[in-house]
Amino acid sequence: MSNAEDAARRRRRTGPPPRLTLDTPVTYLKGVGPARAESLQRLGIRVAGDLLRHVPHRYEDASTVTPISDAAVGADVTVLGQVVATGVLPTRRGLRVFQAVIKDASGLLELAWPGQPFLERTISKGDWLLCTGQVRFHHGRRLQPREFVNLGAGDESSLEGRVLAVYPATEGLSVRWLRTLVEQHLSDLLPLVKEPLPAALLAEAGVPPLPEALRRVHKPESVADARLGRSRLAWEELLCVHLLHRRANVLARESRTGVQFANRKQLTRQLREALPFTLTNAQMRAVREIVGDLCSARRMHRLLQGDVGSGKTIVALFSAMLAMENGYQCAIMAPTELLAEQHALTAQKLLAPLGISPVLLTGRLGAKDRRVALTRMASVDPVLAIGTHALFQNDVAFAKLGLVIIDEQHRFGVEQRAALGAKGADGEPPDVLLMTATPIPRSLALTLYGDLDVSTLDERPPGRQPVTTAHRREAARDRVFSFVNTELDAGRQAYVVYPVIEASEKTDLRDATSMYEALVAGPFASRRVALLHGRLPAEERDVIMRAFRDGAIDVLVATTVIEVGIDVPNATVMIIEHPERFGLSQLHQLRGRVGRGAEQSYCILLGDVGSDAADRLQVVVNTEDGFEISRADLRMRGMGDLFGARQSGLPAFRIADPIADEALNNSARESAERMLTADPALERPENAGVRQLLTINYKRALELFQVG
Ligand code: ADP
Ligand code: MG
Repeated sequence: MSNAEDAARRRRRTGPPPRLTLDTPVTYLKGVGPARAESLQRLGIRVAGDLLRHVPHRYEDASTVTPISDAAVGADVTVLGQVVATGVLPTRRGLRVFQAVIKDASGLLELAWPGQPFLERTISKGDWLLCTGQVRFHHGRRLQPREFVNLGAGDESSLEGRVLAVYPATEGLSVRWLRTLVEQHLSDLLPLVKEPLPAALLAEAGVPPLPEALRRVHKPESVADARLGRSRLAWEELLCVHLLHRRANVLARESRTGVQFANRKQLTRQLREALPFTLTNAQMRAVREIVGDLCSARRMHRLLQGDVGSGKTIVALFSAMLAMENGYQCAIMAPTELLAEQHALTAQKLLAPLGISPVLLTGRLGAKDRRVALTRMASVDPVLAIGTHALFQNDVAFAKLGLVIIDEQHRFGVEQRAALGAKGADGEPPDVLLMTATPIPRSLALTLYGDLDVSTLDERPPGRQPVTTAHRREAARDRVFSFVNTELDAGRQAYVVYPVIEASEKTDLRDATSMYEALVAGPFASRRVALLHGRLPAEERDVIMRAFRDGAIDVLVATTVIEVGIDVPNATVMIIEHPERFGLSQLHQLRGRVGRGAEQSYCILLGDVGSDAADRLQVVVNTEDGFEISRADLRMRGMGDLFGARQSGLPAFRIADPIADEALNNSARESAERMLTADPALERPENAGVRQLLTINYKRALELFQVG
């Protein structure tokens, strides 16, 4: 900082304080010096108004805490007690630990803060402490507070009815200091807050106006009061995201001219007539939605989501036929060669009556076959090309590509998707259909996938046998494997899945490699067994998967590399060891490898697990509904686990949780739709507030809601 700036700053700080507004920098607030201002900045708090938007992430009151006597070792608890003793003790490593003993009506508990001897100055006998943390065993029960609040001294009655807001804190700022800061300024700041949204809109959504909501979240009279306040803020956040998505979607569609196909009902009708089954209602609906997109002048950008086995392939083929009867080419891209081959085989069978033979293009193709394939794509004939990303290498030229279909889209990166656009006919980008077998609730899909349109197959083709699923304990291991052997005796095949490839010092998990040895030497001594995992060269993996598909292998001992979507109807048993190490959606995906033929299939989750994990596994045991499972997975483990790295492209929420707040999310989406239908660019005076809200909080809003 230059001297001049420094001087100006000192003058500012010593001069008369400016009138407080929501835009007043926090450095002007009493008690906030440069160091704390910097810490506040880390929490996103720069001006006084930001402080109001810094919302407690949790509330505590006497009704939400655990009685001290119930705080069991291992449990994560919040307790409230009065300090009866304090002291600082050195550890053998020279660390100084502040300790306190608290007491409530039910008992005593020791608290310890390693490395924080200075707490001795702020925590005294008689103070009431509210602490959260895990109870450990250390010469008895002991809790190291992850978070704590000193409520000061007083008799117990002074705590009654008090709801404590617990704020997200950061280094250098305690929860307590933050609370005090908010408390000090709340009554001055609240009257400055204006409601940015039309009252009618709030009434429809059933959420309180902003000033009231902020009062409720910061100074609630009850936990329910706080929740109501929070609902407004969460709803507003969701509303903004939906406004942005919807606007982006509309603009993209307007600017995105694609091929306008006509519904000629030639190949599509022939396909319908040639099908050995009738489409499910869900399939018909999806086909209708896709046909609608393809026959409009706008470019399709749609996601088709449906559980394993919901019949996405047929829907894809209908779309392909529509493109082809219009004289265009269609490309279906699968994430692996095996899946591509499988699709080609399916397409070959179903399309033979129509006189269509798909072109397969994978990296395995010999030079001659490859040349033949490339020649067909370069001709202007309506071709159906099926392959891996090899379809989109530089030397592949489509003469008239009108539609691209991508299976298991989460395995393709953004760049690969972008490369598709470049392959269209006459510079026209092809329409795009993405398919995924990790279905998520529609409201969440609409929230997460932004400008994609979403079609959902929420119905299974009839006649599918459910997979019998069970969780078996370690004690049943021998019986489980002898059951597998009876299935093998009947000519079936089995998968045995492990969470790790090799043994490691860090865990004592059973691993695929050692268990392969053990199983070959033990229960499967007379069987043809193979080991499959991600560290094998791709070619070797491919050979093994093929051999399994062709029935040359009885048991496949594997990690999760077993491909999504691979179809081996003769495989009827799936054993999953250490099932607690997998996400529920992942277990469901794995289970989808069996139950693909006419025979009864089984999925056995094998192992001793804790009671929480056992409850979690019951979700998979009890249902085969992928939506229900992904919903449970999302509830329990959050979005990161379900989507992995892809999450980086998803909107981040500060307050809302689109899963937990599903009802709010739906209402926000509906409101957004209504608002933009009535006022697409939010130009009307009553929408000035929301416009401002958007442009302040979202950079993208500037381009999406440009004036004029
Ligand atoms: P996924 O959605 O997992 O890709 P597939 O498209 O592979 O599912 O379909 C799974 C199986 O169900 C295939 O054997 C397919 O032929 C069959 N199938 C698809 N739709 C129907 C239907 N409407 N009626 C009966 N069987 C169907
Ligand atoms: Mg599939």
